Amino acid sequence: MLLGRQGAGKGTQSARLADHFRVIHVSTGDMFRRQAAQGTAFGLEAKRYMDAGELVPDEIVVGVIEECMVPEGPLGGGFVLDGFPRTLHQARELDRVIADSPLHLVIDLDVPREIVFDRIAGRRVCENCQRVYHVNMPPVHGWTCDTCGGEVNHRDDDTEEAVERRLQLYEQETVPIIDYYRKRGLLTVVDGVGEGDEVFERLVKVVDDRLHA
Ligand code: ADP
Repeated sequence: MLLGRQGAGKGTQSARLADHFRVIHVSTGDMFRRQAAQGTAFGLEAKRYMDAGELVPDEIVVGVIEECMVPEGPLGGGFVLDGFPRTLHQARELDRVIADSPLHLVIDLDVPREIVFDRIAGRRVCENCQRVYHVNMPPVHGWTCDTCGGEVNHRDDDTEEAVERRLQLYEQETVPIIDYYRKRGLLTVVDGVGEGDEVFERLVKVVDDRLHA
Protein backbone atom coordinates (compact mmCIF):
# COMPACT_ATOMS: atom_id res chain seq x y z
CA MET A 1 0.00 0.00 0.00
CA LEU A 2 1.20 3.47 -0.86
CA LEU A 3 0.19 6.45 1.27
CA GLY A 4 1.25 10.00 0.54
CA ARG A 5 0.02 13.50 -0.18
CA GLN A 6 -1.65 14.42 -3.43
CA GLY A 7 1.17 14.96 -5.91
CA ALA A 8 3.63 12.79 -3.96
CA GLY A 9 3.88 10.50 -6.97
CA LYS A 10 1.73 7.65 -5.70
CA GLY A 11 -0.05 7.09 -9.00
CA THR A 12 3.08 7.05 -11.14
CA GLN A 13 5.14 4.97 -8.75
CA SER A 14 2.36 2.48 -7.94
CA ALA A 15 1.90 1.75 -11.63
CA ARG A 16 5.67 1.20 -12.02
CA LEU A 17 5.84 -1.00 -8.93
CA ALA A 18 2.92 -3.11 -10.09
CA ASP A 19 4.66 -3.58 -13.45
CA HIS A 20 7.97 -4.42 -11.86
CA PHE A 21 6.59 -6.96 -9.38
CA ARG A 22 3.95 -8.26 -11.83
CA VAL A 23 1.00 -7.55 -9.59
CA ILE A 24 -2.16 -5.53 -10.12
CA HIS A 25 -2.34 -1.76 -9.60
CA VAL A 26 -5.51 -0.84 -7.72
CA SER A 27 -6.21 2.90 -7.79
CA THR A 28 -9.56 4.07 -6.49
CA GLY A 29 -9.02 7.50 -8.11
CA ASP A 30 -8.43 5.87 -11.53
CA MET A 31 -11.49 3.67 -11.09
CA PHE A 32 -13.67 6.67 -10.31
CA ARG A 33 -12.27 8.72 -13.21
CA ARG A 34 -12.84 5.84 -15.62
CA GLN A 35 -16.43 5.44 -14.45
CA ALA A 36 -16.99 9.20 -14.70
CA ALA A 37 -15.60 9.28 -18.25
CA GLN A 38 -17.99 6.46 -19.19
CA GLY A 39 -20.82 8.51 -17.71
CA THR A 40 -22.17 5.77 -15.43
CA ALA A 41 -24.51 6.94 -12.65
CA PHE A 42 -21.96 5.84 -10.09
CA GLY A 43 -19.10 7.62 -11.89
CA LEU A 44 -21.02 10.88 -12.18
CA GLU A 45 -21.91 10.74 -8.50
CA ALA A 46 -18.23 10.17 -7.59
CA LYS A 47 -17.19 13.02 -9.90
CA ARG A 48 -19.22 15.56 -7.93
CA TYR A 49 -17.14 14.80 -4.85
CA MET A 50 -13.86 14.58 -6.73
CA ASP A 51 -14.19 17.90 -8.53
CA ALA A 52 -14.86 19.63 -5.21
CA GLY A 53 -11.80 17.97 -3.66
CA GLU A 54 -14.03 16.06 -1.23
CA LEU A 55 -13.69 12.39 -0.40
CA VAL A 56 -16.15 10.01 -1.97
CA PRO A 57 -18.24 8.63 0.94
CA ASP A 58 -16.82 5.58 2.69
CA GLU A 59 -19.78 3.31 1.91
CA ILE A 60 -19.28 3.79 -1.81
CA VAL A 61 -15.50 3.34 -1.76
CA VAL A 62 -15.59 0.32 0.51
CA GLY A 63 -18.23 -1.31 -1.69
CA VAL A 64 -15.99 -0.86 -4.74
CA ILE A 65 -12.94 -2.30 -2.97
CA GLU A 66 -14.92 -5.20 -1.60
CA GLU A 67 -15.94 -6.13 -5.13
CA CYS A 68 -12.30 -6.15 -6.27
CA MET A 69 -11.10 -8.21 -3.36
CA VAL A 70 -13.37 -11.23 -3.71
CA PRO A 71 -11.22 -14.35 -3.12
CA GLU A 72 -11.77 -15.72 -6.62
CA GLY A 73 -10.97 -12.30 -8.13
CA PRO A 74 -7.80 -11.22 -9.94
CA LEU A 75 -6.03 -9.82 -6.88
CA GLY A 76 -4.99 -13.18 -5.41
CA GLY A 77 -1.57 -12.86 -7.07
CA GLY A 78 -0.84 -9.64 -5.25
CA PHE A 79 -1.58 -5.94 -5.64
CA VAL A 80 -0.41 -2.41 -5.02
CA LEU A 81 -3.08 -0.28 -3.36
CA ASP A 82 -3.00 3.39 -4.38
CA GLY A 83 -5.43 5.92 -2.91
CA PHE A 84 -7.14 3.50 -0.58
CA PRO A 85 -7.63 3.61 2.37
CA ARG A 86 -7.90 7.33 3.10
CA THR A 87 -9.82 7.26 6.38
CA LEU A 88 -9.44 5.15 9.51
CA HIS A 89 -12.83 3.67 8.81
CA GLN A 90 -11.66 2.54 5.36
CA ALA A 91 -8.48 1.06 6.89
CA ARG A 92 -10.53 -1.02 9.32
CA GLU A 93 -12.88 -2.11 6.57
CA LEU A 94 -9.89 -3.15 4.48
CA ASP A 95 -8.70 -5.38 7.34
CA ARG A 96 -12.10 -7.03 7.36
CA VAL A 97 -12.19 -7.49 3.58
CA ILE A 98 -8.68 -8.95 3.20
CA ALA A 99 -8.61 -10.86 6.48
CA ASP A 100 -7.15 -13.96 4.81
CA SER A 101 -4.31 -12.27 2.95
CA PRO A 102 -2.95 -9.52 5.19
CA LEU A 103 -0.86 -6.62 3.94
CA HIS A 104 2.91 -7.02 3.67
CA LEU A 105 4.01 -3.42 3.61
CA VAL A 106 2.66 0.12 3.89
CA ILE A 107 4.81 2.86 2.39
CA ASP A 108 4.45 6.50 3.30
CA LEU A 109 5.81 8.29 0.23
CA ASP A 110 6.90 11.50 1.86
CA VAL A 111 6.96 14.81 -0.04
CA PRO A 112 6.58 18.17 1.75
CA ARG A 113 3.52 20.31 1.12
CA GLU A 114 5.44 23.14 -0.62
CA ILE A 115 6.69 20.75 -3.28
CA VAL A 116 3.43 18.97 -4.06
CA PHE A 117 1.69 22.26 -4.93
CA ASP A 118 4.17 22.86 -7.76
CA ARG A 119 3.90 19.31 -9.00
CA ILE A 120 0.10 19.37 -9.13
CA ALA A 121 -0.01 22.75 -10.87
CA GLY A 122 1.99 21.27 -13.77
CA ARG A 123 0.40 17.82 -13.72
CA ARG A 124 -1.32 16.48 -16.86
CA VAL A 125 -2.98 13.07 -17.07
CA CYS A 126 -3.95 10.74 -19.92
CA GLU A 127 -7.74 10.56 -20.02
CA ASN A 128 -7.56 6.99 -21.23
CA CYS A 129 -4.84 5.11 -19.31
CA GLN A 130 -4.29 7.68 -16.53
CA ARG A 131 -0.54 7.93 -17.15
CA VAL A 132 0.77 11.03 -15.42
CA TYR A 133 2.89 13.71 -17.17
CA HIS A 134 4.14 17.15 -16.22
CA VAL A 135 4.33 20.32 -18.33
CA ASN A 136 8.12 20.07 -17.96
CA MET A 137 8.05 16.42 -19.09
CA PRO A 138 5.30 16.17 -21.70
CA PRO A 139 4.60 13.26 -24.06
CA VAL A 140 6.83 12.99 -27.16
CA HIS A 141 4.10 14.05 -29.64
CA GLY A 142 1.99 17.01 -28.51
CA TRP A 143 -0.47 16.07 -25.80
CA THR A 144 -0.97 12.51 -27.00
CA CYS A 145 -0.12 9.77 -24.53
CA ASP A 146 3.12 7.86 -25.31
CA THR A 147 1.63 4.67 -23.91
CA CYS A 148 -1.86 4.49 -25.42
CA GLY A 149 -2.35 7.48 -27.76
CA GLY A 150 -5.05 8.94 -25.48
CA GLU A 151 -5.57 12.64 -24.94
CA VAL A 152 -3.46 14.15 -22.15
CA ASN A 153 -5.20 16.88 -20.15
CA HIS A 154 -5.41 18.83 -16.94
CA ARG A 155 -7.45 16.90 -14.36
CA ASP A 156 -10.80 18.49 -13.48
CA ASP A 157 -9.95 18.25 -9.77
CA ASP A 158 -6.50 19.85 -10.03
CA THR A 159 -7.87 23.37 -9.44
CA GLU A 160 -6.26 25.41 -6.66
CA GLU A 161 -9.32 25.18 -4.38
CA ALA A 162 -9.79 21.44 -4.84
CA VAL A 163 -6.09 20.78 -4.23
CA GLU A 164 -6.17 22.87 -1.02
CA ARG A 165 -9.16 20.90 0.18
CA ARG A 166 -7.63 17.51 -0.71
CA LEU A 167 -4.42 18.36 1.14
CA GLN A 168 -6.43 19.50 4.16
CA LEU A 169 -8.40 16.24 4.12
CA TYR A 170 -5.16 14.31 3.79
CA GLU A 171 -3.85 15.78 7.07
CA GLN A 172 -7.18 15.34 8.80
CA GLU A 173 -8.37 11.94 7.59
CA THR A 174 -5.41 10.08 6.11
CA VAL A 175 -2.46 10.97 8.36
CA PRO A 176 -4.05 9.05 11.31
CA ILE A 177 -3.79 5.90 9.18
CA ILE A 178 0.01 6.23 9.16
CA ASP A 179 0.07 5.64 12.91
CA TYR A 180 -2.42 2.83 12.61
CA TYR A 181 0.02 0.90 10.41
CA ARG A 182 3.15 2.05 12.25
CA LYS A 183 1.83 0.46 15.44
CA ARG A 184 1.46 -2.82 13.57
CA GLY A 185 5.03 -2.72 12.29
CA LEU A 186 3.92 -2.42 8.66
CA LEU A 187 5.06 1.12 7.94
CA THR A 188 8.15 2.34 6.09
CA VAL A 189 8.72 5.98 5.16
CA VAL A 190 10.33 6.58 1.76
CA ASP A 191 11.61 9.98 0.69
CA GLY A 192 9.60 10.95 -2.39
CA VAL A 193 11.70 14.00 -3.30
CA GLY A 194 14.01 13.57 -6.30
CA GLU A 195 13.95 12.22 -9.85
CA GLY A 196 11.25 9.63 -10.58
CA ASP A 197 13.81 6.89 -11.27
CA GLU A 198 15.64 7.61 -8.07
CA VAL A 199 12.43 7.43 -6.01
CA PHE A 200 11.44 4.23 -7.83
CA GLU A 201 14.74 2.58 -6.86
CA ARG A 202 14.16 3.49 -3.22
CA LEU A 203 10.70 1.94 -3.39
CA VAL A 204 11.86 -1.26 -5.07
CA LYS A 205 14.53 -1.63 -2.40
CA VAL A 206 12.11 -1.42 0.54
CA VAL A 207 9.73 -3.89 -1.13
CA ASP A 208 12.60 -6.29 -1.91
CA ASP A 209 13.89 -6.01 1.66
CA ARG A 210 10.45 -6.88 2.98
CA LEU A 211 9.95 -9.77 0.56
CA HIS A 212 13.30 -11.29 1.56
CA ALA A 213 13.08 -10.53 5.28
P1 ADP B 1 -5.25 12.52 -5.38
O1 ADP B 1 -4.43 11.59 -4.51
O2 ADP B 1 -4.41 13.52 -6.10
O3 ADP B 1 -6.41 13.14 -4.65
P2 ADP B 1 -6.64 10.30 -6.66
O4 ADP B 1 -6.69 10.01 -8.11
O5 ADP B 1 -6.04 9.27 -5.76
O6 ADP B 1 -5.85 11.67 -6.58
O7 ADP B 1 -8.10 10.62 -6.12
C1 ADP B 1 -8.92 11.57 -6.73
C2 ADP B 1 -10.25 11.74 -5.97
O8 ADP B 1 -10.95 10.48 -5.94
C3 ADP B 1 -10.13 12.12 -4.50
O9 ADP B 1 -9.98 13.50 -4.31
C4 ADP B 1 -11.47 11.60 -3.95
O10 ADP B 1 -12.54 12.45 -4.28
C5 ADP B 1 -11.67 10.32 -4.73
N1 ADP B 1 -11.11 9.16 -3.99
C6 ADP B 1 -10.11 8.34 -4.42
N2 ADP B 1 -9.86 7.39 -3.50
C7 ADP B 1 -10.71 7.61 -2.47
C8 ADP B 1 -10.94 6.98 -1.21
N3 ADP B 1 -10.23 5.92 -0.80
N4 ADP B 1 -11.90 7.48 -0.39
C9 ADP B 1 -12.62 8.54 -0.77
N5 ADP B 1 -12.46 9.19 -1.92
C10 ADP B 1 -11.52 8.74 -2.78
